[in-house]
Amino acid sequence: MITAEIIAVGSELLTPDRADTNSLWLTEKLNSIGIEVKLKTIVGDDDARLEETIRTALGRSRVVITTGGLGPTEDDRTRKVAARAMGRRLLLNEKVLEGIRAFFTRFGRTMPEINSRQAMVIEGAEILDNPNGTAPGMYIEHDNRSLALLPGPPREMRPMFESLVLPKLKAKTGGICVVRRSLRVAGMGESAVDERIAPVYTQYKNPQTTILFNRTEIEIHLTAEARTEQDAELLLDGLAGQIEERLGDAIFAFRGETMEQVVGLRLAVNGFTIAVAESCTGGLIAERLTDVPGSSSYFMEGVVAYSNDAKIRSLGVPAELIREHGAVSAPVAEAMARGIQARAGTDFGISVTGVAGPGGGTAEKPVGLIFIALADDAHTEHRKLMLPGDRQLIRWRASQAALDLLRRRLI
Ligand code: AMP
Ligand code: MG
Repeated sequence: MITAEIIAVGSELLTPDRADTNSLWLTEKLNSIGIEVKLKTIVGDDDARLEETIRTALGRSRVVITTGGLGPTEDDRTRKVAARAMGRRLLLNEKVLEGIRAFFTRFGRTMPEINSRQAMVIEGAEILDNPNGTAPGMYIEHDNRSLALLPGPPREMRPMFESLVLPKLKAKTGGICVVRRSLRVAGMGESAVDERIAPVYTQYKNPQTTILFNRTEIEIHLTAEARTEQDAELLLDGLAGQIEERLGDAIFAFRGETMEQVVGLRLAVNGFTIAVAESCTGGLIAERLTDVPGSSSYFMEGVVAYSNDAKIRSLGVPAELIREHGAVSAPVAEAMARGIQARAGTDFGISVTGVAGPGGGTAEKPVGLIFIALADDAHTEHRKLMLPGDRQLIRWRASQAALDLLRRRLI
């Protein structure tokens, strides 16, 4: 397998407020053609460190990709430093200079003098056109290594890599194809998932299985290698099918979709509508549902009813019910779901009420106690949950459970 490394250049990427996202995107693309990324480095705008990084990278990796530092300003030094690391000269390229001038003319401006720096091209490099910006990229074959210098802005880097670099690298891989799939699971703990599926996935080296327990849910990542994409997909289908046999409805997504996308699609294809009444989630469910493009065809209304009075006034929850059972209770959750469904005139109403903490818990109603409910014209059901985590996590898990209750109803 061909190995690659990625070097992200830019001092801003070493501050707390900017992340190197380019390398994530590049890794996915490289993996898709069977190239493994062995190392990623982030280097500030520092000549000596960048030169050392590029030189070392070329010494050990077959493919080296840099992003960033190709701009016109003084802190953009990838071009110069890469030339130095390879012992090549930088030459002014008239054609590139004309291209940069034309880019400015197109927007009715004249080229600032400093932009002519971007027309300096490393001796022997192939120029990678940049239709979305001024900085051209470069591709160099050096000592049986491939080095690509790409611009930092993702909207310039991505199309350039995809159309001009990826095909060259693909030609070197001998046609191995790597395809990934991500299955997502709701309503099960991590050990329960692993217990059920380990007997299946441990039998396979290809596809490879990784189980990811992130803060909010469980993901099963499958990676298959084959000669063609179809063959890789077939391998994935086989294993995914066996995993599904073991986990059933707990798998809500087979292609990395989010819960709100899955629920939205089910609502849309069935022509159903939904409204939500939220207390402790404070609008999170409505936010997630409406995050999906096209949600206006099924999402009608959301009410955040935080106080008792709001639950009574906006959702028609009977005051006695709250007095008798408290706002965090199954009867109130059900009344909220029925109330919003009636008020909005939708097919379904969902509700959440609970104690997100960190304060406000009692022995009887501790932090993490959540009631969710789902109502339609005929029937109302609820679930009582005890969710672990901090306030943010409890709120998120409550929203996930409520959406999952609806998803299971729509299967
Ligand atoms: P540069 O090409 O170094 O002038 O970078 C210009 C801009 O591209 C930066 O300000 C960032 O917004 C963006 N950028 C650079 N490197 C990366 C990276 N590795 N990931 C995401 N964005 C980046
Ligand atoms: Mg920069």
